[in-house]
Amino acid sequence: MTTIATDMPGLSMPAFSEDLPYPRRKRSHHDAIMPLQPLCEGTATLGEHLLNRTADSRPRAIYLHIPFCRRICHFCNMRRMKGSPESRYADLLIREMEAVTRIPYVRDGIYGAVYFGGGTPSTLSTPDLQRILQALRTHFQLTDDVEITLESSLSDLDEDKLRAVMAEGINRLSLGVQTFHDRGRRLLGRLGDGEWVKAHIRRFRALGLDNLGMDLIYHYPMQSDGELAHDLAAIAELDLAGFSLYSLMIREKSRLAHEHMAHATQTPQTLAREWQLFSRILEAGQRQGFESLELTKMVRPGRDRYRYVALRYQGGDTLPLGAGAGGRLAGMMLMNPLSLEAYAQSLERVTDREGMTTRPPYDALYRFIGAIQFGHVTPGTVPEAAHADLLARCEQRVDQALLTPLGDGRYSLTPKGIFWGNNLAAELAGCVMEQL
Ligand code: SF4
Repeated sequence: MTTIATDMPGLSMPAFSEDLPYPRRKRSHHDAIMPLQPLCEGTATLGEHLLNRTADSRPRAIYLHIPFCRRICHFCNMRRMKGSPESRYADLLIREMEAVTRIPYVRDGIYGAVYFGGGTPSTLSTPDLQRILQALRTHFQLTDDVEITLESSLSDLDEDKLRAVMAEGINRLSLGVQTFHDRGRRLLGRLGDGEWVKAHIRRFRALGLDNLGMDLIYHYPMQSDGELAHDLAAIAELDLAGFSLYSLMIREKSRLAHEHMAHATQTPQTLAREWQLFSRILEAGQRQGFESLELTKMVRPGRDRYRYVALRYQGGDTLPLGAGAGGRLAGMMLMNPLSLEAYAQSLERVTDREGMTTRPPYDALYRFIGAIQFGHVTPGTVPEAAHADLLARCEQRVDQALLTPLGDGRYSLTPKGIFWGNNLAAELAGCVMEQL
């Protein structure tokens, strides 16, 4: 996996231009795949879809959804519920593993990455996490170098729990920090102050877990230059393998939406401020030895390859496990029920679960969009009928300093291209779709 080869001249970023390449900034990769919707065909059951399919040798990913949080963040409207899981939830997950691996296509696959996401996976008790990890090894063929990520809050994890799950294979930890600044933490509804967060990270790092990273939220309401500098100084101080950077999205129905919905409105002024914060993070990250791996990810080279997302974007299958988990198998999109009752019920006959099927060239375009998420436009991978238009569109975006030609028919995203990356992906995928 290569990191994004930006055309960054030294560390200076271009100034924000009010001549915006797009009227709104798309901030989610879900926006990038929207143009592929016409390639979604209809529903089928998992049993019908996988019948007579055989597994190939491409490594796949497993996503386990743990939809519980002890405390609800003020910006969140994700698929989760308040509380902590009882042991019954681990029982259900293990039953699901047994059920899905009766399907030959699932059983015979090779799995190179496992991701515990949520919600807050660390709300599971240590014994439950241990037996889920053991069951994964019993039921699935995991590669020798499998990456197993645990998303965690700071309040649900201590050294004993971390030591125990590392012994069972967790080798990547993603901490939901969001900010070290105390005002920002209160605003976002995070527990504890910045010093408390740093002390936890130092203790976790001391256990020898090399691939330890965190989420950073920027452009929250009234975030000052000093507040961002405070976050960047904390990141410099801690020996992190990487960090994800997310511009705050204020979602309807979240607590923050009541008081700060106006912050969600994009104007040239708010976009200029967002760019300023984003470019400062990229500059500081580079100075500290991080490189851009993906639109929202900076890593120390060699320490975090983020294999889970890389496999997904390379078009590999992602097997969803757990209530509310989403994934994709052999081109079929799947979403497990979020309600525990409906999820438990669905385990009676997993082959009856319904998903959305897609038709070619959905997979090729999904990989094309995935390459853009990792900083490269690869026109050679899309149907030939679309090449001429796609190249013309790329050249326009070169003129606007979003792309740099690499000289081999491919392009890399500039820092400005990374900022507008989901817009660029949606635009270029839409351009291909028009020619099909
Ligand atoms: S942001 Fe994450 S930790 Fe916070 S409530 Fe939402 S799912 Fe839970």
